Amino acid sequence: MDASILSGALSKVALPALLLGALLIASHLFAPPPSWQAISHALPVALMGAGALLAIRFRRTRVVWAMGVMAAALWILRRAAGDPALDVLRQGASIWLPFALSLLALTRERGALTAEGLARSGALLAPLALLAWIARPGFSHQAAFLTTPFLPSPLSGFGALGHAATLAWIVAALAVASALIRRQGPLTGGFLGALVAAGVATSASSMSLSNLWMSGAALVLVVALVQESYRMAFLDELTRLPGRRALNEAMMRLGRRYTLAMLDVDHFKQFNDKYGHDVGDRVLELVALQLSRVSGGGRAFRYGGEEFTILFEGKEVEEVKEHLEAVRVAVEGASLFIPTRPRAGQKPTGRGRKVSVTISIGAAARNDKRRSPDEVLTAADKALYQAKRKGRNQTFCSK
Ligand code: GH3
Ligand code: MG
Ligand code: MG
Repeated sequence: MDASILSGALSKVALPALLLGALLIASHLFAPPPSWQAISHALPVALMGAGALLAIRFRRTRVVWAMGVMAAALWILRRAAGDPALDVLRQGASIWLPFALSLLALTRERGALTAEGLARSGALLAPLALLAWIARPGFSHQAAFLTTPFLPSPLSGFGALGHAATLAWIVAALAVASALIRRQGPLTGGFLGALVAAGVATSASSMSLSNLWMSGAALVLVVALVQESYRMAFLDELTRLPGRRALNEAMMRLGRRYTLAMLDVDHFKQFNDKYGHDVGDRVLELVALQLSRVSGGGRAFRYGGEEFTILFEGKEVEEVKEHLEAVRVAVEGASLFIPTRPRAGQKPTGRGRKVSVTISIGAAARNDKRRSPDEVLTAADKALYQAKRKGRNQTFCSK
């Protein structure tokens, strides 16, 4: 497996893992204070309510559903607590919850009233209706499969979970973990964290522990939601580089010594006209990847369109020139393979051609003539114009 895919997946679960790890340690190290009973009853509900409101505000239907599903499962766990006659209900909810959370994690963000949204709502609610039906008094023999043991011993029944529920949690966690490798975005990581925490909650031996872990599940999803909206505000969607807003923020915090470089793809309009906008987009991703690897402490941003900015804090223009040249050479050397489109009815031939682009770079440092970041950026832009005028694919540094 590609190391970058693995590290991407790991970065998405880092925060949920940290939060849940802290919860695990806290629940083992500290005896709950007497007031915990009252708090633990209200805490998950408060977190789920707040999470649902936040998700409605951010238009994240999947998270609204997840909060509702977890609240419903918690309500069932509370009803069934300490009553062996209601174990069927508890086991049923412990199967429905991983099913519902993994379905939400694996489907795309769709409005509740679209065809896809309505189908998902049906798939989420139908098992709950079924559970209410089979768990009604005097009917529990029909539901024996929920409580019958069948797993081999190492897996057999985790905590208070029956075998069917244990299997459901394992399958759901594996499905979401594999989706994490394919999908971008912290929400999938949040769903995996919530799935693990809710699994611990349903297997817990006491309601107080269930409340704690359900709170953890809601918290992990709320944090993922905030992380995702931060990312949407600051990261450029196409290239995954920090965008203009992030650059503006960084420029507000600059000291007295820094260099800004403006970078622009050469003849990109022609490139788009020749190969199409989609290939153009993929080339921009490739360029961004080279820029993100800039040495010398530079930080790359997508300024907009096919223009990028690299910021070197604490550096004069002479100190960054070699690093900018290295970026320019890396872009020149990177290429994208475009397979030749097969004729109708024919198989792909595997043939194609490599395409590449070059960039021009203009750099300027802060000095007594230009003191504000905006003035430095304008100077870098002028230097970029010089690099273009002198024939492109080169770096020009402002005096
Ligand atoms: P120069 O060497 O002087 O920079 O020539 P140029 O053609 O690159 O300059 P110009 O600014 O005229 O054209 C920029 C082009 O970049 C226009 C637009 O089609 C393309 N472009 C801007 N943003 C994107 C994008 O997100 N994706 C794609 N595919 N093309 C973009
Ligand atoms: Mg341009
Ligand atoms: Mg250009």
